[in-house]
Amino acid sequence: METLYTIPVNMAFEECADSQENCCPFCRLYAELEDTELEYILGASMMEPDVRVKTNEQGFCPQHFSMMLGRKNRLPFALMMESHLMEIDRHSSRMGFVDKELPALEKSCYVCGRIEQKFPKMLETAAILWDRDPEFRKKLAAQHMLCLPHYRMLLTAGKGIVGKKKYAAFKEDVDAVFRPYFESLMADTSWFCKKFDYRYDAEPWGTAKDAPERVVKFLCGDLHTVAKKK
Ligand SMILES: [Zn+2]
Ligand SMILES: [Zn+2]
Repeated sequence: METLYTIPVNMAFEECADSQENCCPFCRLYAELEDTELEYILGASMMEPDVRVKTNEQGFCPQHFSMMLGRKNRLPFALMMESHLMEIDRHSSRMGFVDKELPALEKSCYVCGRIEQKFPKMLETAAILWDRDPEFRKKLAAQHMLCLPHYRMLLTAGKGIVGKKKYAAFKEDVDAVFRPYFESLMADTSWFCKKFDYRYDAEPWGTAKDAPERVVKFLCGDLHTVAKKK
């Protein structure tokens, strides 16, 4: 069995099952990966030449720039930017700088790239665990929710892992987590809208008050927030 991500995947599933909040285990894994990368980039790897070559070349997306600025390590950040700017300057007289290099730079991000290398393996690990470990099926069943993008990614990853025969059972188990939250969110959103009608004034809000925020987290994933510390 692919064991590299077995521990973090199991841990995220256990933590989200125990959590009082609505928590998608893959959003949690994403946040942990992101936190590790940001920590590393502004800490231990800051002076590593091979990492610097890549950050100079790839830069960062607006999301990860703002997360780095939100951290305390201002000098490591500025040093990294100093050489990034110098690299851009060095390339500025090249052929294709405006037509090719800058459009590519606008799209690339060192942190996103690192996460994109690892995250699909976590989805695959979850599908492998579902296939081979009955305990993991219980952990899946104990989840409160899956966000829509990670629901899609998990099913897609599962297709290649569990095989045609078991896929229907796999999807059924994933749907058993996904559907009830999705349906309760629809109900809460409708109730939220109704509460603006004076006829429902006296009725309690129930769980609908934060429905708009939860809809966004459901549709987009709860990403790029500060990592949830254990
Ligand atoms: Zn998610
Ligand atoms: Zn990024």
